[in-house]
Amino acid sequence: MADSTDNASDLDPAAVADFHDALKQSKHIVAIIGAGLSASSGLATFRGTGGLWRNQDVMQVATPAGFHHDPGLVWQFYTYRRHEALRAKPNRAHYALAQLAHQIPGFVALTQNVDNLSPRAGHPPDQLKELHGNLFTLICSDKVGCGYIERGNFQEPLTPALDPSKDETTTLGSIDPNNKPRANPVLLAGIARKHAQILGDTYHGDTPTTRDLSSLKAPEQPPTAPTAVIRLSSGLEKEDLPQCPRCKNNILRPDVVWFGEALPLTIVEETEALFNQPVDLCLTIGTSSIVWPAAGYADMARKKGARVAVINICAEDAKNIRPEKDWVFVGDAAVVLPELLKPVVGDVALCDENVGEDCE
Ligand SMILES: [Zn+2]
Repeated sequence: MADSTDNASDLDPAAVADFHDALKQSKHIVAIIGAGLSASSGLATFRGTGGLWRNQDVMQVATPAGFHHDPGLVWQFYTYRRHEALRAKPNRAHYALAQLAHQIPGFVALTQNVDNLSPRAGHPPDQLKELHGNLFTLICSDKVGCGYIERGNFQEPLTPALDPSKDETTTLGSIDPNNKPRANPVLLAGIARKHAQILGDTYHGDTPTTRDLSSLKAPEQPPTAPTAVIRLSSGLEKEDLPQCPRCKNNILRPDVVWFGEALPLTIVEETEALFNQPVDLCLTIGTSSIVWPAAGYADMARKKGARVAVINICAEDAKNIRPEKDWVFVGDAAVVLPELLKPVVGDVALCDENVGEDCE
């Protein structure tokens, strides 16, 4: 099993013992969570190495301007992400954190993830701040004038035009290499997989290009065609997209924070209030501790007396570490966290109430 604890012993036993001592004495704990928490649940990190959608795609699919220009493309992207998140299961790290929240009332997790895996692992809602929203909360695109909000919408497909079950054979028919291809994200994921198969280690998950498309059409040919970035186009009309049932005048959008948008004020205020009191322990999990918000919140926690533990697959993401007070635990969060939290949460079982599985 991918999230077994086989290599948990890679951690420095002295550091783990020191962390365990600190954990057992901690009453106020803050965790700052990034995409690395969900990586071993099979969800690609959004912008990191190997991420499916890189910078310029982000401008097309995760910005207010992108939504204004082609809301269908944005909805295709989020349809794909909702589908992947529904297929994924919480891993042992999600369950360990949920258990920690049940055991320690003064523990609050600040997550940048929108995949809903922490709630599915049973993390109490009042101890989880979803900084960037949730894929399964839909809001009216007229936030101020209408303000419609619908939580926990897991419907698939949201509209017939957004059916994510279309396979590659179906969607391939809509590609015209001399014109704008229609960008079904399921197709793009298929392209990424095929490209990885063809190119192996030399493939880095870059933006799909015309070369990707030509290699799909003629996989026996070496990919030598000149590379050009594709300007994606959904080909969808507003009538094809989820409609607001309240104002009946606007389309819905996912309640996630796009690039160029501010975090919701209530979340910011609730989060900053956490740092008005002493903090004993701060965990940064699967997120770069160099850039905002993880770096900012970790520093706020340090000012309130916290020792900081960095849990990350990549050691280079841990900076500004105080060797005498902080810890860096390098590894997969799904392996490392259950071992680190074991003195409080015990052995972590996997179970997913949403799909009716028994706990192991
Ligand atoms: Zn509305």
